[in-house]
Amino acid sequence: MAGEFDLIARHFDWPAPAGTLGVGDDCALLPVASGHRLAITTDLLVEGCHFFSGVDPQALGHKALAVNVSDLAAMGARPLGCLLGLSLPGVDDDWLAGFARGFRALADGVGCPLIGGDTTRSPQGIVISVTAMGEVAVDAELRRSGARPGDDIWVTGTLGAPHVALELLQGRHPSHAALLESLQAMLEWPQPPVAFGTALAGVAHAAIDISDGLLQDLGHVLKASGCAAEIEYSRLPVHERLGVLDAAVVQRAVLNGGDVYQLCFTAAPLAGPVIEALAARHGIRATRVGRVLPGQGVRVSGCPLPLGGDGYAGFDHFG
Ligand code: ADP
Ligand code: MG
Repeated sequence: MAGEFDLIARHFDWPAPAGTLGVGDDCALLPVASGHRLAITTDLLVEGCHFFSGVDPQALGHKALAVNVSDLAAMGARPLGCLLGLSLPGVDDDWLAGFARGFRALADGVGCPLIGGDTTRSPQGIVISVTAMGEVAVDAELRRSGARPGDDIWVTGTLGAPHVALELLQGRHPSHAALLESLQAMLEWPQPPVAFGTALAGVAHAAIDISDGLLQDLGHVLKASGCAAEIEYSRLPVHERLGVLDAAVVQRAVLNGGDVYQLCFTAAPLAGPVIEALAARHGIRATRVGRVLPGQGVRVSGCPLPLGGDGYAGFDHFG
């Protein structure tokens, strides 16, 4: 695309760390420690489908990388670098500067430098493709299949806020419209616990990042592991601003709300003190919310409202 090289030089040519070859050659070069493997993940964001056209470009740059480093965290991988594919209808330098600022702040914050990419003209709409790479010691990775009966189930951060923010943006719960101000950042600026996820490698047994809702994402872990689980509703870390909403709204946001980009992981009960120490060291809230059982499905005990019915369709409960 015309001006492609200038565009890259202006917005995306950032220094790579020592030992890494970044933007400017035919390939980037990444060192991987011996005894480790490369963890690779990619996500595609399409204008009008994954984000609104008018969204703050800085928030979009942040989120485009956040959803990828969230996957690295859920594998127990330490970030090494990322690639950015951009397809743009035109060159809007203000938009690009905002996007690059949001992307770079998170890349610097979690240690995931931008080391390459591709830039093309799009006939219609913006398309963003980010690929993130990390390293994880062989056999220490947090696979979905690693959960075992008797494990504790943990959740980082809080639940429910991004889903409620999305509903408020859609005009739902009009009597609580003022809540949006305090919840919008939870939707647009997710903060995956990357260093904490890296530290869980070899400590936890299985992990997943919560992108589609706790029950659905935990369900993937249980299915891959051939296990069941019991969650205690009263233990779930509900975002503190949700208390003013109807119990039904809160329950659905907490159990089924997506866009959280926090971790759900399982670990042996004996690992509890180590996990609490790691959480304290990384400034992460980590909450034990239930346990893994033999069998299949998820039981949620102590729900304010009965589970089931159309709102939870597609989910496989037992009991
Ligand atoms: P090639 O023709 O070999 O694909 P390009 O001319 O597309 O190389 O890109 C030149 C350099 O700029 C490469 O190092 C590439 O990784 C980098 N690059 C291109 N687009 C981006 C982008 N959006 N973000 C970061 N780096 C980019
Ligand atoms: Mg190219």
